[in-house]
Amino acid sequence: MGVSTKNWAGNQRCVPTAVHQPTSTDGVSAVVRTAAAAGERVKVIGGGHSFTDVAMTDGHLLSLDGMNKLLAVGGADGCDVTVQAGIRLFELNEQLAQRGLAMPNLGDIDRQSIAGAVSTATHGTGAGLGNIATRIVGLELVTGDGSIRRADETTDPDLLRVARVGLGALGILTEVTLRCVPAFNLHAVETIEPLADVLADFESVMRSTDHVEFYWFPGGRRVQLKRNTRTDAPAAPQSRAAYIRDKWIGENLAFGTVCRIGRRFPAAAPKIAKLITSSASERDLVDRSDKIFCSPRKVRFLEMEYGIPLESVPEAIGRINSLVGSLPFPPMFPVEVRVSQADDIPLSTAHGRASGWIAVHQYIGAPYEAYFQAVEQIMNDYDGRPHWGKMHFQSADTLASRYAEWDVFQAARTELDPKGTFANAYTDRVLGSAVVGAR
Ligand SMILES: Cc1cc2nc3c(=O)[nH]c(=O)nc-3n(C[C@H](O)[C@H](O)[C@H](O)COP(=O)(O)OP(=O)(O)OC[C@H]3O[C@@H](n4cnc5c(N)ncnc54)[C@H](O)[C@@H]3O)c2cc1C
Repeated sequence: MGVSTKNWAGNQRCVPTAVHQPTSTDGVSAVVRTAAAAGERVKVIGGGHSFTDVAMTDGHLLSLDGMNKLLAVGGADGCDVTVQAGIRLFELNEQLAQRGLAMPNLGDIDRQSIAGAVSTATHGTGAGLGNIATRIVGLELVTGDGSIRRADETTDPDLLRVARVGLGALGILTEVTLRCVPAFNLHAVETIEPLADVLADFESVMRSTDHVEFYWFPGGRRVQLKRNTRTDAPAAPQSRAAYIRDKWIGENLAFGTVCRIGRRFPAAAPKIAKLITSSASERDLVDRSDKIFCSPRKVRFLEMEYGIPLESVPEAIGRINSLVGSLPFPPMFPVEVRVSQADDIPLSTAHGRASGWIAVHQYIGAPYEAYFQAVEQIMNDYDGRPHWGKMHFQSADTLASRYAEWDVFQAARTELDPKGTFANAYTDRVLGSAVVGAR
């Protein structure tokens, strides 16, 4: 009997037949070789922060937590950093900072492994920036028969292009080389603005500085707008007491308490939402980039996020606003809206289009299905692409036409994993069967 594994939100569980903790690429290769020869399946779990069952398996589960070293710094500008693929983002950020380097953009948290983050196209916000996977300029991959392949811009650009966002279905990433940037500080300005003003001028607002995002409670008229701008100014972070007040007490402890009340007394939830919006603080500070990008998240929730064409976001937000009154249970978390640049990675959710991201959340244990399904219907009208690591109800049949290079990905999958060693229930659903002719 194996050991039960669950994800961060606790909504996905699995019981693998065996758990392995390799410490080298050869160790990974040996596990895959043996499992493949026995016709068994293999999956890596990173930080377990996906909301979907993308990292779950009833076969062999690998944790690369022991493969978390920074291996080399090089490249023409000294900004290309090679790391083992199990490194967590908070470890990576610290290692980079010690060398005067940083990632140009990050998401909300830093608990993911680098391989897990890129495999689902994890992104932050920034109209002029791509997702984290776009920073990969080299990689090492263990394929379905245990072979070790290396790719960079000169040796195997086709493999590099496709394997940056692989949903764990093309192989096991054991090393990645990331094109980083010199370390920088961000000036963070958080203000409360009327929703109508932000939507009226949506693209200019979202392009108004390096990183812009906003939070909005469906049904509400105001948003919390966050603008982060690169600066040469020295760090002037909040005091420890103010940080604890805003991030730990405000965003986690107090927020968690009101969510629990709202879950118990749903009729009070809209009033609670208003209270949270009106108590959202305005902040103005300068700090190291990763400390501004990433925050602690202790209140558990479920999330669905869709990428749609940038210009469609205001209309889509208006439609979400119209549906909330008809939901059987009110949303208790704000909607988060972000943007990013188009890229050329076949299964990146931003493939070929500048994207606006609309993320809906629900407090853990509160009903979410009707809300998420209704929002998904809206997103379908914009050819929406669901975040690979967040909840959605799509399948390969509904997704294939939303990706111009779907067939390129499938051809790579057939070549790299012809027996479906890296398949699981999630990839069977969203990519179809790995084995040609089995669909
Ligand atoms: C609180 C919270 C905040 C979040 N914030 C953001 C955000 O701001 N932006 C955003 O875009 N997403 C966000 N996410 C989603 C999260 O970034 C993704 O789900 C990400 O994939 C999680 O990384 P992980 O290391 O936990 O990977 P896991 O969830 O463990 O795995 C994800 C996938 O990667 C595969 N994988 C892991 N390691 C390897 C490897 N070595 N080789 C090949 N495949 C591998 C797994 O098999 C699986 O298919 C958030 C999630 C949570 C819970």
